[in-house]
Amino acid sequence: MRIKRIAAVLCAAALAFACGCSADNAPQSGNKDKLSIVTTIFPAYDFARQVFGDTAEVTMLLKPGTESHSYDPTAKDIIKIDSCDLFIYNGGESDTWVDGILEASDGVKTLRMMDAVEVLEEEHIEGMQGEQEEHGDEAEEKHEEYDEHIWTSPKNAALIVDSVLKAAEEISPENAAVYRQNAESYVGQINALDEKFEKLFTGEERYFVFGDRFPLLYFFKEYGLNYYAAFPGCGSEVEPSAQTISFLLGKLDEENTVKTVFCIELSNHKLADTLADDKGLKTTEFHTCHNITADDFAAGESYVSLMTRNYEALSEVLS
Ligand SMILES: [Zn+2]
Repeated sequence: MRIKRIAAVLCAAALAFACGCSADNAPQSGNKDKLSIVTTIFPAYDFARQVFGDTAEVTMLLKPGTESHSYDPTAKDIIKIDSCDLFIYNGGESDTWVDGILEASDGVKTLRMMDAVEVLEEEHIEGMQGEQEEHGDEAEEKHEEYDEHIWTSPKNAALIVDSVLKAAEEISPENAAVYRQNAESYVGQINALDEKFEKLFTGEERYFVFGDRFPLLYFFKEYGLNYYAAFPGCGSEVEPSAQTISFLLGKLDEENTVKTVFCIELSNHKLADTLADDKGLKTTEFHTCHNITADDFAAGESYVSLMTRNYEALSEVLS
């Protein structure tokens, strides 16, 4: 189904090229002095604009406020990718559509973010919905998948910024000094945040309960944190089973559990609200930075500002 859709989109893109009359064949940006960088998700967009500064026009294909896992490229998007100076994508299960496009494209320069860090295998922990089904016959055939939410660890974010810097220096050596300065400044901000998180999480071992999906494996592993969650990272939102609900309610009663129910941005918060209401607790949003709301986008929020928001929310519940 998905492959068919992508094939159709590729055909549309090919037609647009062939006829030479489409508006999409007009110059992409009015400013030819600037490089054109195309990115998929918000972290890629943010890291690119921080490093390239005003030497490039950076585009995010994902529209602000939309679900990143259900994104499919339009014909226009494909043309943008094909004609840019650098295409930055993540390289996980949510953007497997990239492979087909790159095969058909004419050697566009790319940066796959998952190549910049050490990747971790997806984790299905006790109580997580879907965990039970994993032990069926199909489990034998199921190969290990790598968790794609690499950017949630600030240390990984810093490594990705370094990779963007390397690519930028190759594309435009004359701007190398500016790029280095931009990257150093942003990595400095990320490192400062990382140190604050390290300090915040020292002390007793505690569990965090997510009444939601859990795309934060890299963040939690980085700081040695424990968690329980209703669903794995990129699963589509489904109704929680009675078993999942009662498991998480039980965990909220345990002494070493942080007394709030976590949920993530752009989710319906339904399960988190249900769990919190039952126990008379609050809910706390953890922004996983996949995408950004239209308001935050307009306000110029960045990876660092969103993660700082997480730091403040976590400091409050841990104090
Ligand atoms: Zn995800």
